[in-house]
Amino acid sequence: MDSQGFREAAATAIDDIASYYDNLDDRNVVSTVEPGYLRKLLPSEAPVEGEAWTDIHKDIEGKILPGITHWQHPGFHAFFPCATSFPSILGELYSAALSGACFNWICSPAVTELETIVLDWLAKILGLPECYLSTGPTRGGGVIQGSASEAVLTAMVAARDKYLRETVPLEQFPEGSEAREDAIAHKRSKMVALATTATHSSTKKASIILGVRFHTIAVHADTGYSLTGPVLAKTLAELRARGLEPFFMTATMGTTDTCAVDDFAGIVSTLKSDPVHPAGTPGELWVHIDAAYAGSALVLPSVREQVSISLIENFHSFDMNMHKWLLTNFDASCLFVRDRNWFIQALTINQAVYGNKASEGGLVTDYREWQIPLGRRFRSLKIWFVLRNYGVKGLQSYISRTLKLGEEFADSLKSRPDLFEILTGPNFALTVFRVAGKEQGKSDEELNALTKAVCEKINASGRMWVTSTVLDGRFAIRMVTSVSTTEKEHVDRAWKILVEAAEEVVKA
Ligand code: PLP
Repeated sequence: MDSQGFREAAATAIDDIASYYDNLDDRNVVSTVEPGYLRKLLPSEAPVEGEAWTDIHKDIEGKILPGITHWQHPGFHAFFPCATSFPSILGELYSAALSGACFNWICSPAVTELETIVLDWLAKILGLPECYLSTGPTRGGGVIQGSASEAVLTAMVAARDKYLRETVPLEQFPEGSEAREDAIAHKRSKMVALATTATHSSTKKASIILGVRFHTIAVHADTGYSLTGPVLAKTLAELRARGLEPFFMTATMGTTDTCAVDDFAGIVSTLKSDPVHPAGTPGELWVHIDAAYAGSALVLPSVREQVSISLIENFHSFDMNMHKWLLTNFDASCLFVRDRNWFIQALTINQAVYGNKASEGGLVTDYREWQIPLGRRFRSLKIWFVLRNYGVKGLQSYISRTLKLGEEFADSLKSRPDLFEILTGPNFALTVFRVAGKEQGKSDEELNALTKAVCEKINASGRMWVTSTVLDGRFAIRMVTSVSTTEKEHVDRAWKILVEAAEEVVKA
C-alpha cells in the first residue's frame, strides 16, 4: 500500500468508524457467534500474494463485526466501561503512524516530554496532592502503563525493593556479599502483600508473579465492603505474630463488585501509629491506591472531598485508568508515584546498547526505568487530545451526567420495592441489586435463582448487557450507566426491559 492507497483506504476506514458510532444502537450489544466461528470463515493459511484493501475491508463488516461485543453500545451496562472518544481515536492514529519503541528520552523526546506534561495536567485535574506531580516537592510523577494490573505489579516491585533496602542494612550486609543475598532471600520468604476480599484480583496476581506471600483481609456488608483502620491494625498484628512481614497493600477507590472506597483516614491513622514500622520510617507499609475505574470521578471537586483524596499524600502510589471512564481508549492506565526514585531504583538495569549522552547527563526521564517492559507506545498523544478537546469542564459535565443516570436508575429501583432490593449504591454510577422477597420469607437460595433468571432474561433481549456478582452469598446484578453513548432514553429502556423480565420471572 503506497501513500495514495493509504489515503483512499483510510478515508473508507474513517467513514466506516463514524457510521459504526452513528448506528451502534441498531446492533445487539453482545456477540451471538458460536465458539470457533472465525476459523470456519478464514482460510487456514495466510495469503501468499498480498490482497487488495477492498477485499480486506469487506471482511471487517462480514467476518469481524459479528464477533464483536459492543463496549461503546448505549445498552452496555456490564463490568465497567472501556472508554473511547473521537479525539482519543485520532490520538491512536497518529501514535500508530509515529510508531517507535520510545523507552529512552532520545528515542523521541516528544513522547517522553508530552507524557510527563499531560500526567501533571491529569494529576491537577484529579486534585491529587502535589507530591504526585513531576514538579512536586518529593520528585514524584506519573507514567502511563498498559493496565491497572501492570501498574500494581510495577508498584509492588518498587515496594519490595524499598522494603528490602530499608530492612536489610548495608552496614551489616554489604552490597555484593553472599551474606546480603542470603539475608534478602530469607526476608523475601517472609514478606506478605495485603488486599481485601473486595480488592481486584490483580494484586493477588502481582504477588503470584513476584513470588511473595499474599494475604486477603475479609470485608463485609457491615463496613460497606470497605477496609477500616482497626481491621488493618488487627491484620498487621496477626501476620507479625506469625513471623510474617507485611510490606505492601492495595487500598481501593471504587472496588470492582460494588465501587466501595476503603477508609483512607482510618488506614492513615493505623499506619501512623503502627508499633513496628510507623508510616514514614524504614520498613513502612507501601500503600498503593487502585482507583482504576472510579478515579475518573475525581475530576469533580465534590468527589475529592467525599473520598478525602488529599490523604493519599500519606500513601505511595495511585493508579487510575483513563481507559475505563475518562474518554480515552485502551490502554491508558495512569500510575503516579510520590517519589520516582522508588521506581528507578527498582527497575533500572543498564545495558551498553541503551547508553546515550542525554541519559548519562541525568537531565532526562527514561521511562523504561519506571515500567516492566522496555519499549513503549506514544500513549500520551491520545490523552493530550482528549484533555484539550473536552477541557476540564467537558470532562466534569460528562462524569456528572453519567453519575446522574446512575442515580436516576437507582431511584427507579427504589420505586418498585415489591420487585427489587438495592444491595449497594449507586456508587460511581454502579448500582448492585437483586430481586426482592426477603420480607415475604424467601430464602437467599430462592432469591439467587430468581435474580439469576432475571439477569439471563434481560441479557437475552440483546438490547442491554449487565453482569453479576455475589455479595456475601447473595447473587446480584450490577448495573453501570457510565458508557459515553448512554443517554437517559437508554437507561429508561433498560429499566422497562428489567421490570418486564422481573415481573415475568416472579410470577412464573
Ligand atoms: N482494579 C479495579 C478496581 C478494577 O475494577 C479492574 C478491572 O475492572 C482492574 C483493577 C484491572 O484493570 P486492568 O484491566 O486495567 O488491569
